[in-house]
Amino acid sequence: MNDKIYLSLPEQSGFEHKYVQKALDSNWITSGGPNVNDFENQLQSYFNDIPFIAALNSGTSAIHLALILLGIKTGDEVICQSMTFAASTNPILYQGAIPIFVDSESETWNICPEMMEIAIKDRIKKGKKPKAIIAVHLYGMPYKVDEVHAIADKYEIPVIEDSAEALGSQYKGKKCGTFGTFGILSFNGNKIITTSSGGALICNSSNLKEKAIFYATQSKDKASHYQHSEIGYNYRMSNICAGIGLGQIKMLDKNIEKRRDNHLFYKNILQPFKEVELFEAANDDFFSNYWLNAILIRADSKNEKREAFRLRLEEENIESRPLWKPMHLQPLFEKYPYYGNKVAEQLFETGLCLPSGSNLTMENKDRIEKVITSFFN
Ligand SMILES: *Cc1c(COP(=O)(O)O)cnc(C)c1O
Repeated sequence: MNDKIYLSLPEQSGFEHKYVQKALDSNWITSGGPNVNDFENQLQSYFNDIPFIAALNSGTSAIHLALILLGIKTGDEVICQSMTFAASTNPILYQGAIPIFVDSESETWNICPEMMEIAIKDRIKKGKKPKAIIAVHLYGMPYKVDEVHAIADKYEIPVIEDSAEALGSQYKGKKCGTFGTFGILSFNGNKIITTSSGGALICNSSNLKEKAIFYATQSKDKASHYQHSEIGYNYRMSNICAGIGLGQIKMLDKNIEKRRDNHLFYKNILQPFKEVELFEAANDDFFSNYWLNAILIRADSKNEKREAFRLRLEEENIESRPLWKPMHLQPLFEKYPYYGNKVAEQLFETGLCLPSGSNLTMENKDRIEKVITSFFN
């Protein structure tokens, strides 16, 4: 049997050991510390020093802290893109708040601006204005930033930008993660760079960053003893994990290039097959890191060909996976309001993610190409 080809694996630069070793040698083996500060500084300079970035232990905790900092409480309503990973929406439930799900549009697969406005108007009519919007740059593809933020501004609703999959992506030349009141990043093992587990909250002021770190380190008031007047969390990034991050961030630009090369590889080999549609940027406003490449297979009305292709890849020991199952179809979330036209459902039924790691080899690509060519010919 050939080696398994995975969707997205970590790739090491070789410098990770040095920074992890430094943490061990200095006995700085806890949450926070010099590696964490250095990692934050390097992230901030990657974002051109405009935002203030707090390094945390996951992207999920970053979303949770964003909701807390926006004052989201029990019974509040939060609008969220339905087509996403559950980590975008679980923190809404942590706060006892109510997710209001919105469909995707078919160009970026992200939150549909028109449907979002319909949802906002209807929630207001029903008596509650949503307190926040969580919009996601799915698979690295920026959402329609201008349209979404124009509506958010019109109704004065803050946006949390879930950039977990979109580090390095840009909209109209500006980096994703910097458009919302808060942006969040993930450094989980499957993301474009990793700290094993980790995340970050992108804030637009140093006050908010400080407040985020305050909550992330158990909300300790200023006192010589441990004094607490607010709920605290243990969400800070570990100094060991940040050491891995310092090694990883060195090759962020190269990783983006490699993932974009993977995209061109798929574009090339899929071009002859009209029943397969590769997910790609609608125009030059959208610069995707192509974290994952995805295709739609619209061959038959019952959408059976997608599953047949997935099984064919599995036989060849090549991993692929259907797109995120929309949240409004999940047993956990199906009782919450949903505004949509079945765009997300259609994507879920016909879509498939393909191996897209920065460490895909030529030999891996040859194997993938052979299966694609033989299956669709
Ligand atoms: C990975 C991911 C997250 C959460 O990140 P973790 O670091 O795994 O907690 C949130 N949203 C999306 C869309 C993701 O893909």
